[in-house]
Amino acid sequence: MIAEQVKVYQNYIGGEWRDGGGGQLEIRDPANGELVYRATSSTVDDARAAIAAAKAAFERTEWADNAVARAKALYKMADALRAHLDELAELLTREGGKPLSVSRAEVLRGADALEYYAGLARNVYGRSINLGPHEMAILMREPVGVVAIIVPWNMALSLLTRSLAPALAAGNAVVIKPASLTPGATAEFMRMIDEIPEVPKGIVNYVIGPGSPVGTELVKHPDVDMVAFTGDTSTGKEIMRLAADTLKKVSLELGGKSPNIVFADADFDRAIRGAITGASLFHAGQVCVAGTRVLVQEDIHDRFMERVREITAKMRVGPGLEKGVEVGPVISQAQLERVLDYIEVGKREAELVVGGKRLTEGELAKGYFIAPTVFDRVPVDARIAQEEIFGPVISVLTFKNEQEAAEIANATVYGLAAAVWTNDINKALRVARKVRAGMVWVNTFGKLYPNAEMGGFKQSGIGRQYGLEGLWEFTELKHINIQLTDPSRVRRAPAGDGA
Ligand code: NDP
Repeated sequence: MIAEQVKVYQNYIGGEWRDGGGGQLEIRDPANGELVYRATSSTVDDARAAIAAAKAAFERTEWADNAVARAKALYKMADALRAHLDELAELLTREGGKPLSVSRAEVLRGADALEYYAGLARNVYGRSINLGPHEMAILMREPVGVVAIIVPWNMALSLLTRSLAPALAAGNAVVIKPASLTPGATAEFMRMIDEIPEVPKGIVNYVIGPGSPVGTELVKHPDVDMVAFTGDTSTGKEIMRLAADTLKKVSLELGGKSPNIVFADADFDRAIRGAITGASLFHAGQVCVAGTRVLVQEDIHDRFMERVREITAKMRVGPGLEKGVEVGPVISQAQLERVLDYIEVGKREAELVVGGKRLTEGELAKGYFIAPTVFDRVPVDARIAQEEIFGPVISVLTFKNEQEAAEIANATVYGLAAAVWTNDINKALRVARKVRAGMVWVNTFGKLYPNAEMGGFKQSGIGRQYGLEGLWEFTELKHINIQLTDPSRVRRAPAGDGA
């Protein structure tokens, strides 16, 4: 019998496919432990080679000045993702565990973001100011230069495109570092980019390797001008510290503990569905905006809990490739242990309503499956109400009135997203204004759009993703000041402070 050939993904540096100097990674399916593919792993030298390729391409090609080519390139990237939807979605599910429908939506979200920023690539505009009779200012938006994009494993493709699309639209060169657990689907995307003639070699580079030292090298290197990072808050803090030495720009999209606030006057059934889908159980809770703190008004608490328990107890947990599966595995053994540890903490801090254990019946024993878990009567200061678990775990808290709802919503270090469920629009807007989060949904949860900004307040991040602000993140603003008349012929008041 001939063994099936396992794919081996390589780095993509300066338009060439290369092995890194750090051996190989084995990527296994979190649903059953099977080997899915291998990938090269890199060293600091490989990271440096990618940075040098990006710098050379940025400085020596017309990319930064050719908005038409950038727009065409981004449209072609979007087309390529759509054309390979089936294969990419399957690979995302095999490497990351999420149900196939979620992976398909992820690929399409990536394509949508690329198309949106393709449209904006020809609109990287500044402004001009008439400063006086004899002088004027032109304020130009220019690319930052070389941007390192560091991506987590939970939504490998859509969290990449969310930064890649605006970075390229603005005219930057990039070095991408995927999460070591999920480099495959992005490597396939790199093959598609390689075939797009409008992208000069070296503008997009891909280096697979560990957070330290490969990620840290990208953050520290003086030729990297900006780091766009998505991942854990503690890593984001470390990146800010490391970036300080070269004072580079950082954009950080970090953790969350989003409150999902349900008032007694909400549409009950919609709010129940919103509480469950909002907690992102479909990806075993491994989503940064997940509404894992459900705040329920005391008056409807019992009825609400009864329904939540009924629905979550029946959710179908299994491999993401299987039809009808609603909850996939968590990503790794380490994540499994981390989530189970939190569940044990929760059992001491609150009342376990449903789930609370690893699932090991039959085929599930081969993967990292955890039963959807709900804790009730969770105190505001409990660890399971304060810390990002990144697992299929919902913490339910109660409140009496609007004021208390907003206070509880704000009582964590995070501020990524929130939702309010009520049929009173004035109440919804009052609460939405009080909640300190970068995104607040009213009577819905989790919708993201490439043309509308999102991002974190407090320790959930710095900067904005998506929308126009998401494009400006990847630009520098330059003031070109022009003297229109020979100054010796002009009698004038003293100019600005000259600082
Ligand atoms: P990390 O934040 O550690 O990883 C995200 C990315 O950063 C990966 O590419 C990682 O590389 C890289 N990285 C890690 N350390 C550094 C560093 N010092 N400098 C530069 N890059 C670095 O998240 P993990 O994947 O390890 O997950 C840990 C926890 O973070 C999860 O359990 C979850 O709670 C949370 N998380 C939150 C996310 C969010 O969107 N809010 C997303 C992912 C995780 P490598 O993969 O090689 O380690």
